[in-house]
Amino acid sequence: MYDDIIIGAGIAGSTVARWLAEEGGHKVLVLEKRSHIGGNCYDRLDGHGILVHEYGPHIFHTNMEDVFSYLSRFTEWNLYGQGHQVVANVDGRLIPVPFNLNTLHMVYEGNQAKELEQKLIAAYGEGSRVPVMKLRENKDPQIQGIAQYVYENIFLKYTMKQWGQKPEEISAQVTGRVPVLISYDNRYFQDKYQGVPLYGFTKMFARMLDHENISVQTGVAAKERLAVRERDILFDQVPFNGNVIYTGELDGLYGCRYGRLPYRSLRFAFTHYDMDDFQDGHSVVNYTVSEDFTRITEFKHLTGQKDADGTTIVKEYPFAYTGAEGEIPYYAIMNPQNEALYNKYKQLADQVPNLYLLGRLAEYKYYNIDAMAKKALELAGRLAGQ
Ligand code: UDP
Repeated sequence: MYDDIIIGAGIAGSTVARWLAEEGGHKVLVLEKRSHIGGNCYDRLDGHGILVHEYGPHIFHTNMEDVFSYLSRFTEWNLYGQGHQVVANVDGRLIPVPFNLNTLHMVYEGNQAKELEQKLIAAYGEGSRVPVMKLRENKDPQIQGIAQYVYENIFLKYTMKQWGQKPEEISAQVTGRVPVLISYDNRYFQDKYQGVPLYGFTKMFARMLDHENISVQTGVAAKERLAVRERDILFDQVPFNGNVIYTGELDGLYGCRYGRLPYRSLRFAFTHYDMDDFQDGHSVVNYTVSEDFTRITEFKHLTGQKDADGTTIVKEYPFAYTGAEGEIPYYAIMNPQNEALYNKYKQLADQVPNLYLLGRLAEYKYYNIDAMAKKALELAGRLAGQ
């Protein structure tokens, strides 16, 4: 008999499974509806032998020593010495994103750039991080000018593509992920550790799940085995009193009875080129003023893979998730209305004492990989009585 049933083998499910199995000594069953583990971090070799991220680029980054050392038990890393760097293609010119003092000096001419730099430092302090929506509130016309440049050339079109809404219409948390940096720092993230598992995410997850107390079944949708009722859960038609950790969409557990939770989805268009380098060493180029796709990722620059011929890229085309067969919900659309709907489902889930919600989908949140692993470790610690 199992102590825990975990729905979903992504970062949340795999981390919780490993901890419960190893530290808690629990017998754990992981049910994954897809044919593979790893959730949206899943990577694989494409037909040309290039390691690609099937569900879009995933870069691990963290300042949390405990998370880094825990995951490091299951993988070596390709750590980025210079940090992960992104550029925006603005009318054919590549400029560093987040917008920082290097970008400032590229888009404003010498003396003006120096003057603006001093203004920004005086207003916010050297090294500070200012969300563009905050920068726009500054009363100084010159700072407003910078804010307007950043808003128009980096945020507006990209955000319209990604979310179908303007930056001011979406959660400030989302645009705040990419603040203006008052420093000469071209890194996309400021975390100490940045990179990808050396042999890929899938291999890291496979090692996490490779434990005598863990059984993984892929290709099994939770609803085939589990029924969540008002106050209890049936597993194969029999009441199950162990822990059920659910990482899928919460509305799906309840037949979407209050209506669907809105998400943004993505279509990925992969192309292989018979050339060494498609975008001049850049792993990610954001298209912030043109095109229908948001960004192009060139995988070999992300993964550091050197042994394959040619190169594979992916373009991301966002759209509104409808729940149709085959569509994947990637991003919760966090706003008060959607959160209120989420909370109605959450109230139902809270009636079931052994049901735990974990992850981007089940919690309707925008987690990075490290934050997700941290939450999973905390939950597992609690459930294992530690
Ligand atoms: N964003 C933007 N332009 C950019 C980069 C980001 O407008 O060049 C906005 C956009 O709304 C995006 C959000 O900032 O959804 C967060 O970006 P991030 O790169 O963190 O998104 P993710 O990689 O998680 O899709």
